[in-house]
Amino acid sequence: MRLRLSLMLLGLLPIAGLAQSAPMVERSQRPPMRPGETLMPQPRPSASPDQPAATAGGGCVEAFDAWRADFRARALVRGVPPRVFDEAMGGVRPEPEIIARDRSQSEFSRAIWDYLDSAVSASRVRAGRAALARHRRLLEAIERRYRVEKEIVAAIWGLESSYGAVRGDVPVFTALATLACEGRRRAFFEAQLIDALRILQTGEVQRARMTGSWAGAMGHTQFMPTAWLRFAQDFDADGRRDIWGDDPADALASTAAYLAAHGWQRGQPWGLEVRLPGGFDYRLTSERVKKPVSAWMALGVRDVRGAAVAEHGPASILLPAGHRGPAFMIFENFHVLESYNTADAYVIAVGHLADRLRGGGPIRHPWPRSDGVLQPRERLELQQRLTAAGFDTGGIDGIIGPRTIAAVQAWQAATGQVPDGYASPAALARLR
Ligand code: CA
Repeated sequence: MRLRLSLMLLGLLPIAGLAQSAPMVERSQRPPMRPGETLMPQPRPSASPDQPAATAGGGCVEAFDAWRADFRARALVRGVPPRVFDEAMGGVRPEPEIIARDRSQSEFSRAIWDYLDSAVSASRVRAGRAALARHRRLLEAIERRYRVEKEIVAAIWGLESSYGAVRGDVPVFTALATLACEGRRRAFFEAQLIDALRILQTGEVQRARMTGSWAGAMGHTQFMPTAWLRFAQDFDADGRRDIWGDDPADALASTAAYLAAHGWQRGQPWGLEVRLPGGFDYRLTSERVKKPVSAWMALGVRDVRGAAVAEHGPASILLPAGHRGPAFMIFENFHVLESYNTADAYVIAVGHLADRLRGGGPIRHPWPRSDGVLQPRERLELQQRLTAAGFDTGGIDGIIGPRTIAAVQAWQAATGQVPDGYASPAALARLR
């Protein structure tokens, strides 16, 4: 069993074979997800971290053959030829390490500043500039065809696989079958597994080359099988959409095609750091509030150097760490990047890394690093306490979404605080 990647993900093995100059990442730079439909991998907190997963992992190991027999019938109904199924799935065994990894995903939250420190580290910026230089003609050709800036494509490449250095070597059928059998998100992973079988059916890739992360994300930019079927490109025109091999051409074109299909607008920023004026109405800092840049200018918002911002369509103000942290004006392209991964931290990391690859500087306003970050259990408690105090969070699910942020804002406004919607440890302490 090739488990090097999952063991590396767990921090149990050093990363072998990476040059000293490569960015040292112990695991994918995907943060946990907020809810939202996406074709990309979306590990997200379980509905209630207080409860174990619906099916015990050990149970899955014992029940694997029964699950596979049931799933075979479901796959055949959906058009998978028996020969393809048996060839791909015949020798597959569930992998307990993958179950352990999936569970640990929801047990710990990292602060956005800690995440950005590693996602946009000096070494990743340096490696990205080298990758851009090495693949300039390819990335420029992709930009011309799909109208997605080369720095954005390179930034996703950098976050997903350290520019191809860490593409994952877990057999994709092992990863997806284990997660489907485990049962926490069975429908999602069975659908991905059926699409992985369809990929095999195209004959464009051998089964043994279909490797990826413990979550079933494959290749240079970590495509899920469903995304491959819909968006993968044969950019080098050799008759195979090869996102797995050393040559990144197809994978990078596939990423650009994915963003283009989700509405990427070339020339529009993802967002930019801004400065808010004294007396600013912080109830406007919500992704639900969209205004043209001119309207924000009229309210006194400026870029971080104090200059006017050019018009780029509807914009929102985002405060990922409350009013004491950096403020960003975000545009429609921000939401296009959310189609890859819905976490604000991920989208900011991609956008900011792209800016850095273009020669831009670091985020200027300091993060409130002493704040700490709410852990999953505390997020549940925050929602319980807000709801009990009469501020509806739209359910107690441990996910800080728009309803919870709005509830925090309403509670802050009602208690004379700055209504920035920041679900911080300090907010929980005050609610207690
Ligand atoms: Ca190809």
